[in-house]
Amino acid sequence: MTDLLRDGYDVVVAGGGAAGLSGALTLARSRRSVLVVDAGSPRNAPAAGVHALLAREGIPPAELLERGRAEVRGYGGQVVPGEVDAVVREEDGFAVTLTGGRAVRARRLLVATGAVDELPDVPGLRERWGRDVVHCPYCHGWEVRDQAIGVLATGPFSVHQAQLFRQLSADVVFFSHTAPPSEEQTEELAARGVRIVDGKVTALEIAQDRLVGVRLSDGTVVGRAALAVASRITVRAGFLAGLGLRPADHPSGMGQYIPADATGRTEVPGVWAAGNVAEPAAQVGAAAAAGTMAGAQINADLIAEETRRAVAAYRRVRAG
Ligand SMILES: Cc1cc2nc3c(=O)[nH]c(=O)nc-3n(C[C@H](O)[C@H](O)[C@H](O)COP(=O)(O)OP(=O)(O)OC[C@H]3O[C@@H](n4cnc5c(N)ncnc54)[C@H](O)[C@@H]3O)c2cc1C
Repeated sequence: MTDLLRDGYDVVVAGGGAAGLSGALTLARSRRSVLVVDAGSPRNAPAAGVHALLAREGIPPAELLERGRAEVRGYGGQVVPGEVDAVVREEDGFAVTLTGGRAVRARRLLVATGAVDELPDVPGLRERWGRDVVHCPYCHGWEVRDQAIGVLATGPFSVHQAQLFRQLSADVVFFSHTAPPSEEQTEELAARGVRIVDGKVTALEIAQDRLVGVRLSDGTVVGRAALAVASRITVRAGFLAGLGLRPADHPSGMGQYIPADATGRTEVPGVWAAGNVAEPAAQVGAAAAAGTMAGAQINADLIAEETRRAVAAYRRVRAG
């Protein structure tokens, strides 16, 4: 790391995706000293463009974050590559240790480390992820409209996912795989013209770097140009263990999250969480908005602390 770090900051932000950078932008514009430490692997990195993002529709993910880093730096915020390895409480704040051993102090901590998508164990799925193996109709649906779409059923969300992609194409096949539909769901899928194919999916058929089919355990290949898959979300939050802050199971069944209130405040005083680490369903716009909200709340919290101290000092002076 070549960047010169200070010993202490008002706020350290762990993670420099949409959430972390938006939080940092708000804080830097409020003249807070802020350090963003970013490991550089945003969740949407495999995708060609960010979609459903007003005024930046289709921008490459790396370009969006490059612009964001420049904006934060433009107000005096520091953004450095690296990884937060551990956080422990200290008097008046936290000691934040980065991988490699460098430690800085922070009065407040914003956790914006995003999420990791765990994919079903089907060979080839990971390599196609974010390209023609997709999960989100709002992120990639338009791009695969009218194509031959498959849905790999792995859990309770898969039928809903099939219905969402049916909105985008009349040719949707539901691969029962490990989560066959109930009787009621079978009727719903049939009513919407979604064909159900039973049996385990064992491989993807690829030709000229494109998905062309889905292979079943009996050797049948069903021609498909795109495959929708629901991932299981895990969060990168091991570094919070020293604060007693641990991931919980998200009520939606999507996977893990760090519970936080609507402003991003976690159960640990002084620690906020924003973006996918706190809400797995948040898209880029929602993650950025959560970061902005958390940044503003942290600033307000710091102002409250500074006002308490100022009043105490003021009273001492007045008391002579
Ligand atoms: C394939 C795919 C395509 C998508 N397409 C779209 C789309 O078109 N439109 C849309 O709105 N949404 C899309 N999304 C969702 C989008 O990725 C998320 O909404 C967004 O990334 C959430 O932002 P975030 O800041 O919470 O997390 P991220 O963007 O994941 O950023 C978190 C950052 O924290 C870093 N980090 C992790 N651990 C640490 C640590 N210990 N210390 C320091 N840094 C750390 C990571 O390396 C990463 O850079 C897509 C998701 C996927 C999987």
